[in-house]
Amino acid sequence: MKHFDAIIIGTGQAGPSLAARFAAAGKSVAIIERHKFGGTCVNTGCIPTKTLVASAYAIHVARRGAEYGFATGDVRVDIKRVKARKDAASARSSKGVEEWLRGTTNCTVIQGHARFQSSNTVVVNGEVLEADKIYVNVGARASVPEMPGIHDVPFLTNSSLMDIDFLPEHFIIVGGSYVGLEFAQIYRRFGSEVTILEMGPRLIGREDEDVSQSVREILEAEGIHVRLNAKCISLAKREGGLAVGITCEEGPPEVVGTHVLLAVGRTPNTNDLGLDRAEVATDHRDYIIVDDQLQTNVPGIWALGDCNGRGGFTHTSYNDYEIVADNLFNADHRRVSDRILAYALYVDPPLGRCGMTDAEIRKSGRRALAAKYPMSKVSRAYEKGETQGFIKICVDAETKQILGAAILGVGGDEVIHALLDVMYAKAPYTVIQRAMHIHPTVAEYLPTILAKLEPLT
Ligand SMILES: Cc1cc2nc3c(=O)[nH]c(=O)nc-3n(C[C@H](O)[C@H](O)[C@H](O)COP(=O)(O)OP(=O)(O)OC[C@H]3O[C@@H](n4cnc5c(N)ncnc54)[C@H](O)[C@@H]3O)c2cc1C
Repeated sequence: MKHFDAIIIGTGQAGPSLAARFAAAGKSVAIIERHKFGGTCVNTGCIPTKTLVASAYAIHVARRGAEYGFATGDVRVDIKRVKARKDAASARSSKGVEEWLRGTTNCTVIQGHARFQSSNTVVVNGEVLEADKIYVNVGARASVPEMPGIHDVPFLTNSSLMDIDFLPEHFIIVGGSYVGLEFAQIYRRFGSEVTILEMGPRLIGREDEDVSQSVREILEAEGIHVRLNAKCISLAKREGGLAVGITCEEGPPEVVGTHVLLAVGRTPNTNDLGLDRAEVATDHRDYIIVDDQLQTNVPGIWALGDCNGRGGFTHTSYNDYEIVADNLFNADHRRVSDRILAYALYVDPPLGRCGMTDAEIRKSGRRALAAKYPMSKVSRAYEKGETQGFIKICVDAETKQILGAAILGVGGDEVIHALLDVMYAKAPYTVIQRAMHIHPTVAEYLPTILAKLEPLT
């Protein structure tokens, strides 16, 4: 039996940095990966999708050439070259992670599927490894719910979609949340007919209604069809394609298309990990239960990233690594509950989000002030010809601290950090009004918007 100071399962967004930290501290560490190095973000998530978003954006701007004063002729998409560009971006990152780990002294890299044998042993490729500390960073995969026809009709997920080098003629996307909406706009801009089917009464149901509505308008303006309240989805074969049954109260009962993408949530990769042998507790959705410092119920076992259900983003997984490493190596006292929710939706224009939604603030019962400003009045936006969306900021009426914000508009994914950092500083919003910002930027409007705060009704 081989003994290590630490074993890490998975090379997602937390594992590799943690392995490097152990190794740098002179500890022996084994890191195990069953598939591609870098995990979801690198191979089937953020990097490939944002590379595709960039292609789709360039194509979109080229089609609008006349508005900007140039002519390109007919814009034709070469989907094989689009894919090659995406593949190169993913391969570069995956190779980078692998070479980094293999080149790290004290770090043993093992390719294979890891399973717990006990609370301090793991089996991989028939070999038993032992460690006092075991870190689980196994991520999640696309959920494939049992629905009528699921075993009869070929469907795509965010992973298998990465391998196609053709354009679906009519792409039906089941799921109107973050993953589904990004792919909807990407493929519409590439030239597919796109229909989004969403179970709920609106897209991105976690967001405020005005955000959902604006995103819907942006997508519909590009010719994307949206069907809401699609409660009972089923799949069936049709000549030359497929049909997705909807059973809505209103509208046709099915949509006929050529390809279907399931973007209906994520399932943690915990069912084939032997967690029962280590007696690690999971919740009703199979997420590993962790405390505020990411320890499981079993001493010596931690869970980081998507598999613990506390994040769902690359930055939350990386932040999990920072919390675990700082607690262990710097005797710091970092906690998951100290972080402020922040993320972006990479439709164009992007949505940058931080903190609470209006609905959450209202529910909390606290007295708040809010201001909303259209991007059409932001000079940077109309100079660029990208005026869709708005900026919305909510602050606490008493403490003057920022409670939450949504920036749907050009640069929204970047500008949101100007607010997020003030939130982390626990400073009042008034510090932003004393800052001199650069002209012309979207961020320079933050003081102007904050001067318009009114009671949140
Ligand atoms: C389409 C899409 C777009 C996204 N875009 C963004 C974005 O723009 N921004 C953002 O922040 N997040 C985005 N995400 C989410 C982000 O990709 C994930 O939150 C992040 O990758 C989670 O990382 P992780 O560290 O939890 O694990 P993962 O990156 O999922 O890595 C887990 C690794 O563990 C390995 N593994 C699993 N089980 C075993 C086992 N038993 N033995 C050995 N190895 C195992 C897997 O092969 C995998 O490599 C996106 C996700 C998707 C699907």
